[in-house]
Amino acid sequence: MDTLSPRPEDTEVWEPEPPVVVPGRNGAPPSDAIVLFDGSDLAAWSAEDGGDAGWRVEDGAMTVVPGTGSIRTRQGFGDVQLHIEWRTPAEVSGEGQGRGNSGIYFMQRYELQVLDSYENRTYSNGQAGAIYKQHVPLVNASRPPGAWQSYDVIFTAPRFDANGALLIPAYMTAFHNGVLIQNHAELRGPTLYIGEPTYQAHEDRAPLLLQDHGNPVSYRNVWIREITTMP
Ligand code: MG
Repeated sequence: MDTLSPRPEDTEVWEPEPPVVVPGRNGAPPSDAIVLFDGSDLAAWSAEDGGDAGWRVEDGAMTVVPGTGSIRTRQGFGDVQLHIEWRTPAEVSGEGQGRGNSGIYFMQRYELQVLDSYENRTYSNGQAGAIYKQHVPLVNASRPPGAWQSYDVIFTAPRFDANGALLIPAYMTAFHNGVLIQNHAELRGPTLYIGEPTYQAHEDRAPLLLQDHGNPVSYRNVWIREITTMP
């Protein structure tokens, strides 16, 4: 054989073969998704202390009951694709950070901000779609208050070595109502309200958390896919 003449087959990869996933129709989850909320109950969720989640389930949505606290998934996750739909109150009250504030915390630490950012100015790295206090969203793709909105997010967990030193930071890519708002943004550490974050080593998997920030924000159609890297 003439080894100087490469063949097309030389660069074909046949193994492994990607597993088959049946995509969802009309916003339904794909076949391999873990459904975290389908409109019926809070079985996948608990209060932060492990007790029952105190949010209200009504009309296919779960809604923050202010003061009952944030809720978190019973299952832990690392690298994921998340789909989540959210709605801020149709009746506007408050302004800035006080208007339709909630948040989606990956691994209980890394917040993608949920806020009514429709004609509601606040600091740019705190508006809807911000990785809170770290990354301003590329655009403001907000719908008006009372409208359902969606986030589709790819989150990769940080990696730490055996001594707890950071090997690879966390990254987030996010779409707001189908519009790219975070493009492989590198997180500088966990979300902090005050000060500059620094990474602290943590477990490989941790719950997804939805924030009670005192506003009756609703969520529906929440599903997640664990990302596995092909060998
Ligand atoms: Mg928030």
